Amino acid sequence: MKFYLSIFITIGIVFPTFAQTYEFSRLDTLRGTITPERAWWDLAFYDLNVRFNPKDSTLKGSNQVYYKVLKSAQVLQIDLQRPMQINRIEQDGRSLTYTQDGDAYFVQLQKSQVPNHQESLTVYYEGKPHVARRAPWDGGFVFSKDKAGQPYIATACQGLGASSWWPNKDHPYDEPDSMNITVTVPQPLMDVSNGRLIKTTENSDGTRTFQWKVVNPINNYGVNLNIANYTHWSETYQGLKGPLALNYYVLPEHLELAKKQFQQVPMMLKAFEYWFGPYPFYEDGYKLVEVPYLGMEHQSSVTYGNGFRNGYLGRDLSTTGWGLKWDFIIVHESGHEWFANSITNYDVADMWIHESFTNYSESLFTEYYFGKEAGAAYVIGCRKLIKNDRPVVGIHNLNYSGSGDMYYKGGNLLHMIRQIVNNDERWHQMLLGINKTFYHKTVTGTQVENFISQSLNLKLAKVFEQYLHDIRIPVFTYEFKNNELVYRWENCVSKFDMPIKVKIDDQEIVLKPTDQWQKLNKIKPNSTVTVDINYYVNSKNITKS
Ligand SMILES: [Zn+2]
Repeated sequence: MKFYLSIFITIGIVFPTFAQTYEFSRLDTLRGTITPERAWWDLAFYDLNVRFNPKDSTLKGSNQVYYKVLKSAQVLQIDLQRPMQINRIEQDGRSLTYTQDGDAYFVQLQKSQVPNHQESLTVYYEGKPHVARRAPWDGGFVFSKDKAGQPYIATACQGLGASSWWPNKDHPYDEPDSMNITVTVPQPLMDVSNGRLIKTTENSDGTRTFQWKVVNPINNYGVNLNIANYTHWSETYQGLKGPLALNYYVLPEHLELAKKQFQQVPMMLKAFEYWFGPYPFYEDGYKLVEVPYLGMEHQSSVTYGNGFRNGYLGRDLSTTGWGLKWDFIIVHESGHEWFANSITNYDVADMWIHESFTNYSESLFTEYYFGKEAGAAYVIGCRKLIKNDRPVVGIHNLNYSGSGDMYYKGGNLLHMIRQIVNNDERWHQMLLGINKTFYHKTVTGTQVENFISQSLNLKLAKVFEQYLHDIRIPVFTYEFKNNELVYRWENCVSKFDMPIKVKIDDQEIVLKPTDQWQKLNKIKPNSTVTVDINYYVNSKNITKS
């Protein structure tokens, strides 16, 4: 869903970037780096088991972390943010000692860790988890009540981190292959989490336990609790990989509204399976779950709080009218199933992989139902939201994502690369190919850049450098001299070489400007030069009059 601006605290490494200085702390390094205490083990499975008590907002439980030993080591890092507390950590039934460094725990293992063996340790913990003030922008638990006064509670922890409410390896590079989420809540409430509901148990103390099973790799911020007196319905979607279970959970008072609005779910699946290939989590099903905040891409349990109306809370972000033709949260958050949940950033500095493609997916959804021009108008309309304040790519190893421009600038970058390749079939094959190649993987931004270049058979390194790593918008600068048009790129990175489509009077032509002057012969002085609007660039005529 979101980006966040974090971290202006304490001593640490100082990065001067574009006139602003951010100071990073040891906390950021411990969170954002693949520390030696993380690198030697590979996540296999999480068995998370929690009990939530709405009366005092406390959470208590355990997480058994299964992992494969990659390299012998005796100290293992687990993350759990304060004010949550670890009660004890065990391996093979034996209590282990550990030291705390901020929100990281370094566990001293007693058993020798043999490469290729699978081991597990269990972390017992409890506390009153952090309360979000403006989820999903900050993160934490969100508390509300339904019309009947029943508790209505949900988690959203992107940015803040999954370790704000459960102990885990809180870095995106490593995902477990599967996960159990077992949640106990008082009746009549139920919990909706990720994957499939395997079992519901009625306990003698007036609580019920809901056992959810995820059989695919899952990013930790995608794991969620949604606790309410939900009402539920389901349907089956006949998709590219066969029947897909769609389950919907909403408050009882919204059932009718939701049944109408959620008809857009099969429409979304049809469009995205066309553009990106099969929904990536057939085995886990697809759920749309009502929550007391705007929404989030929780894997296989996408959360929804858009008020059962089209647009983004009823607004069209593109101001073209196209954004009111569909429900922003259903389309955007579900688009993340392909880009964020299936293809996940290895480091949050490359979160553009999630948001640029998902912003662009809104344009492709629009194109699928309303035509190519509508899709283009939508993505171009979103340009006015671009700030060019910081680069789209953040800073690696510090849990620091880039500018919010990763949405609209990233979407426009992709739209522009489609113009450069100028071959819709090849472009579509790239979108299908990236989903196949990086299916269920964590990837770096560089891997994605290289994949796009290779798949399209284009040299795009300078284009990515310009739009992802720099904040300047290139200016196509031209001048009429005698019977020539001379032109080059200005305000750009060194050796910027993006081709561009221009119209000279009525003649459409693709030019290949660089940062050096080039010329085009036999051009009438004072011809009209128009740069194709699909390119996110500026232009300037410097002819002296
Ligand atoms: Zn998003």
